[in-house]
Amino acid sequence: MIFDVAVIGAGVTGALTARELSRFDLKICLLEREADVAMGTTKANSAIVHAGYDAKYGTLKGKLNVRGNVLMDQVTRELGVPFKRIGSLVLAFSDQDLLTLRKLYENGVKNGVPGLKLLDRHQVMQMEPNVSKKVKGALHAPTAGIVCPYELAAGAVENAVKNGTELKLECQVQDIKKIEGGFVLATSQGDIKARFVVNAAGLYADLLSAMVNGPEFQIRPRKGEYLLLDKSQGNVVNSVIFMPPTEKGKGILVTPTVDGNLLAGPTAVDVSDREDLSVTSSGMNQIIKRAKQMVPDIQFRDVVTSFAGLRATPDTGDFVIEASRKAKGFINAAGIESPGLTAAPAIAEYVLDLLRQQGLELKPKTDFNPVRKPLLRFSEMSDKEREELIRSNPMYGNIVCRCETVTEGEIVESIRRPAGARNLDAVKRRTRAGMGRCQGGFCTPRLVAILARELGIPAEEVTKKGKGSKILMGEKV
Ligand SMILES: Cc1cc2nc3c(=O)[nH]c(=O)nc-3n(C[C@H](O)[C@H](O)[C@H](O)COP(=O)(O)OP(=O)(O)OC[C@H]3O[C@@H](n4cnc5c(N)ncnc54)[C@H](O)[C@@H]3O)c2cc1C
Repeated sequence: MIFDVAVIGAGVTGALTARELSRFDLKICLLEREADVAMGTTKANSAIVHAGYDAKYGTLKGKLNVRGNVLMDQVTRELGVPFKRIGSLVLAFSDQDLLTLRKLYENGVKNGVPGLKLLDRHQVMQMEPNVSKKVKGALHAPTAGIVCPYELAAGAVENAVKNGTELKLECQVQDIKKIEGGFVLATSQGDIKARFVVNAAGLYADLLSAMVNGPEFQIRPRKGEYLLLDKSQGNVVNSVIFMPPTEKGKGILVTPTVDGNLLAGPTAVDVSDREDLSVTSSGMNQIIKRAKQMVPDIQFRDVVTSFAGLRATPDTGDFVIEASRKAKGFINAAGIESPGLTAAPAIAEYVLDLLRQQGLELKPKTDFNPVRKPLLRFSEMSDKEREELIRSNPMYGNIVCRCETVTEGEIVESIRRPAGARNLDAVKRRTRAGMGRCQGGFCTPRLVAILARELGIPAEEVTKKGKGSKILMGEKV
């Protein structure tokens, strides 16, 4: 068996690329080393759909950011993923900041960002009454938004699988060899042959590219820490609030999330370990200080959790999305740091163009279905809708996660779907069970029991996030 295309990595880049490919009459496999999709950078970021004013004009980042922003409406609508265009403000607190905003505005106009406006202090305070009274002005970008990154990736994979893509989880690509007419990928599940390969392996994409091309670029992990606050703080601001960007990125921001929480962060610290997701007290202090400069009244006693994500920062300064000059048919979609989430739908389009140029025939499938039905959200239903649902399926009458009002019906559905949840974190990302104030303190044992029942395995075999993360040591005697 030889696949037409093997996509390595089921983050948002690989997920949307596989989905885009599944429109065509092709045999596609999506290879992911972890036990679920969206386990890399895609699971921990700011979740902002950036407008595109700060990526430098003329770069791939700038071009694909703006295009990805435009595509986001249709993609999220088709995949049933939460997306809200709430707009963003970059605040200025000094004359120097005002000059920076003017430059951002001009760069944004060149990038083709619609609706940008420079606001005076009065206009800012009208839009965002809780920002610091010291503000002097702001750049408003109405096309910025917020999305759920892991649901976007999981939705895209589910849709790709429904349209014929083969998803292989816990399938780590360990070596790649060029052969006549294609490639052999040595994986933890044996050899896989494919005519074309898309390398969307995030933090590891430079190492995979080097197997085929030799070392051409390097990825350096840059850590960003966050604080997530309770829904009681979710309305402190209405839009995404930034300070002017620094050399290391867009800086610490404050934003509502699509689920109604408040998110503050990220820091930006270069680290050497590609797995270093530790959070630090200095990171937390930096976030609190910076966030309070922008929005003084945030109540940080309402922090629900802290976490960190790793940017796959390339030494080229731009996304590395190109066909290999040494091995025909190998495409890198690498160095996808911010705004990679925003750009993902446009990156998928761009990668397909490269594949076409490399000789892949793209013949549309007549039965491609772009629509994925979202999971039901009991917490968002009216009493009448709830009654009807419980009558049709009593599992929706059993609340498993009390903090987020998640029912057994939703959990079972998240497991039974194509490319469904196989562990606790996977259920959590799809349903929000365990994401509330108690962080799973109440519902974890119940989730373990449901997973064991649905997967037909003993409770001791249920894991938090795949191999090496069992939750129970053994049964009580
Ligand atoms: C702190 C932070 C904040 C950010 N904020 C934003 C934002 O607000 N807006 C925005 O647009 N972007 C943002 N980004 C960027 C965005 O998160 C990334 O661009 C995007 O998630 C990258 O997705 P990806 O699929 O390329 O990589 P990943 O999500 O890392 O996916 C790569 C996948 O490849 C798998 N893999 C690796 N090696 C192998 C192998 N050998 N075999 C098989 N599988 C393998 C990994 O397990 C992983 O699942 C932010 C990033 C960070 C870190």
